[in-house]
Amino acid sequence: MTVNSIHRQVVVAGGGAAGIAAAISAARNGAKTILLEYNGFLGGISATLGWLGFHDNRYRQVVRGIAAEFVDRLQQQGEASRYVLDPKCSSAVSINTHAWKILAVELAEEAGVEVLFHTHIVDTIREGDRITGVVVEHKSGRQQIFGDVIIDCTGDGDVAARGGADWERGRVGDGLVQAPTLVFRIGGIDRPRFVAGCKDPSNNYREWLSPHPDLWRKMMQRIDSEPLFITGGFAGLIEKARSAGDFDVPQSRIVGIKTHVPDEFLVVTTRILGLDPTDVRNMSQAYTRLYQQIQVILRFFRKYMPGCENAVLREIAPMMGVRESRRILGDHIMTAADVIEGRVFPDAVSMGGYHVDIHNPSGTWVHSRDVKAYTIPIRSLTARGVEGLLMAGKCLSATHEAVASTRVIPICMGQGQAVGTVAAMAVSANRSTRDVAIRDLQNRLIDQGAELGQGLGEPDAQLIERIGVLPAHDPEPGDSLTGEDERDAALIQSAWVK
Ligand SMILES: Cc1cc2nc3c(=O)[nH]c(=O)nc-3n(C[C@H](O)[C@H](O)[C@H](O)COP(=O)(O)OP(=O)(O)OC[C@H]3O[C@@H](n4cnc5c(N)ncnc54)[C@H](O)[C@@H]3O)c2cc1C
Repeated sequence: MTVNSIHRQVVVAGGGAAGIAAAISAARNGAKTILLEYNGFLGGISATLGWLGFHDNRYRQVVRGIAAEFVDRLQQQGEASRYVLDPKCSSAVSINTHAWKILAVELAEEAGVEVLFHTHIVDTIREGDRITGVVVEHKSGRQQIFGDVIIDCTGDGDVAARGGADWERGRVGDGLVQAPTLVFRIGGIDRPRFVAGCKDPSNNYREWLSPHPDLWRKMMQRIDSEPLFITGGFAGLIEKARSAGDFDVPQSRIVGIKTHVPDEFLVVTTRILGLDPTDVRNMSQAYTRLYQQIQVILRFFRKYMPGCENAVLREIAPMMGVRESRRILGDHIMTAADVIEGRVFPDAVSMGGYHVDIHNPSGTWVHSRDVKAYTIPIRSLTARGVEGLLMAGKCLSATHEAVASTRVIPICMGQGQAVGTVAAMAVSANRSTRDVAIRDLQNRLIDQGAELGQGLGEPDAQLIERIGVLPAHDPEPGDSLTGEDERDAALIQSAWVK
């Protein structure tokens, strides 16, 4: 039953990192804005993680604006670490995820965003070639919410898919998406002993750095004093556990973040192969698997990981971390070449510099590729073939490879800020978002703190010397971005639910 219909100038679907930024920027730019979210909190998957990728691989800050404003505010509250520069992930900030959820609601309210929680978008209203609204279900019943501009930040492209807009999913060949993960947080870790374990080269705690003695030495000099550090290794310990029958997760490395909380580690190690994130049966079976995996991994930490004998389970993320789902096709589809070569588009509205980071959809580790600081054009945030529909975050218009770079939290927020701003400008001028003059949009974004390349400057040689940089990636056979090897193919047969 439809209880009523309402109209708002800008309707933002999904309150994850991208949606929050979109809604706040639309409202700050004067549009009556509503944000629709089916959880009882804002932040989506970002509300369980550290934030990576504010910088490029030469340590220049490529994302500012609303994303950086959130970090500043959290730092002022003592709820976020400083930015830690990193040769693989460019930079990381460890945040108190609960403080982030609170701040997200506060800033949304401050900007005048109307938020509807526990509101599930179940359909899209389309009139001719125009997306004009969404249908939602919530405790009050069914409701139609119309908007002059609709912004799909659902991560799954739900609005686009239900409105008949074009979308794609997964990699070329088999359509599989990146392996998802249910993140959990453990406490009770003895930090000095954990760090000593990382310093032991035989543990190879950080796969990427080990082959480069200079990088390894620099990391070892910093590891005691950095508030956080990233792990992606310990493969030998996992193999040992696997041989002893103690580890049956389709994952060959311990992936996670040693957070700024001394006794805490964020475990990003569970893994499901071959998931379709838009199939409810598939998702439900995956959850069952993931909860089993958490127990296996927790036991692994206690038995095998240095300083973790007394590890306790502190928190399980409130939602599965889906790295990739539907990608809405836009006026431009961002490609691997766009990010690897660091394209500067004339209609750039945000930036990124995080590496291509593909959690192999059918294997146990990642495919990775270095990128240069790149821009994201408004055309990749504008759904093609329809009017009135923008998108930001995971479901932007990009290939499987390109979204593996653009998907990190700050970069999603940069996109969100851009679409929120253009939506408000279009509404106030009573024209299509496609007709907003790009110069005006870029100037507005720059005035509101976004980085579009104007503030980048040259890399800081001293920083580069202190942190070190990974050598430019030299692609080898077998490391093709879409390549699957035989082991991967076998794994997906054996490890995933039917
Ligand atoms: C396991 C994992 C680890 C990661 N690690 C990091 C990391 O360490 N650092 C980093 O920076 N990035 C990391 N990322 C990437 C990053 O967290 C996400 O890509 C990013 O947060 C996506 O933001 P989003 O807003 O596009 O999507 P989401 O966070 O998925 O938000 C979508 C929102 O829309 C809502 N929604 C969806 N469908 C509907 C509907 N039909 N009706 C109403 N609401 C709906 C959801 O509830 C959700 O709140 C990781 C991702 C994963 C999955």
